[in-house]
Amino acid sequence: MLLQGKTGLIFGVANKRSIAWAIAQALAGAGARLAFTYQGERIESGVRELAASLGGDGSLVLPCDVTKDDDLDTVFGEVDRQFDGLDILIHSVAFAAKEDLEGRFVETGRSNFLLAMDISAYSLTAMVRRAEPLMVKRRGGSVVTMTYLGGERAVPNYNVMGVAKAALDASVRYLAAELGTANIRVNAISAGPLRTLAARAISGFTVMEEHYEKRAPLRRNVDASEVGQTALFLCSPMATGITGEIVHVDAGYHAMGF
Ligand code: NAD
Repeated sequence: MLLQGKTGLIFGVANKRSIAWAIAQALAGAGARLAFTYQGERIESGVRELAASLGGDGSLVLPCDVTKDDDLDTVFGEVDRQFDGLDILIHSVAFAAKEDLEGRFVETGRSNFLLAMDISAYSLTAMVRRAEPLMVKRRGGSVVTMTYLGGERAVPNYNVMGVAKAALDASVRYLAAELGTANIRVNAISAGPLRTLAARAISGFTVMEEHYEKRAPLRRNVDASEVGQTALFLCSPMATGITGEIVHVDAGYHAMGF
């Protein structure tokens, strides 16, 4: 029970395929008490059911659109009221318009560019700013966000999301640099392709999966539970020396040059 007595707040569960859900299962399995947010009434009941299936109280499930400061204020205020501080923050949220996940990156319009950056990159900073005082109450904390190799290299069709991931990766380093003195660690997991709602929006996603299977050192794709276990590691006492890091959970694909 690596996380016995710890509290966590998870952004990004949409359904049982969500990476955030795999992370939630790993953290809850290690004894953490969790709160969840969901975006939009359409998925509320599904997220509530999933949260309840973890046992415990599983009751803190709050609406949050990460583009809305008021929503974020309410979530962190409520979490503080119920948990009296916070140990773990999971940021597993991203969005880009479907038309920008195919074709030419150069065609990306200004408002879609800003929307992708707002939801997929800025939201981490907006969350961490609000988490900081709660984590200070616990004398430290661990933040984990989800990124992808498309922020480090040009990946076909990933386009504006790759630019947002590059901003997210840089945010991880700046946040880690600033919050280290408060013993708050900030890391990212760069996952290989996983069949989720968000991934299905990327044109040619199945081609990407097949390519990983052929080229990755482990000659396979990863499973969401492997991402969950890595998040658990990063949030646990086993990783107290790690911050500002991007851990690739991609069967080794990132290591290949060709
Ligand atoms: P998902 O669709 O299950 O999760 C995306 C989440 O983002 C959803 O819960 C959705 O509600 C949320 N979201 C979108 N806009 C929001 C907003 N305005 N406010 C609040 N929430 C909002 O898909 P996923 O693949 O689990 O994605 C989670 C993270 O993992 C994303 O950052 C994604 O880029 C990253 N990632 C995914 C893969 C993959 O292959 N699936 C690989 C690497 C990284």
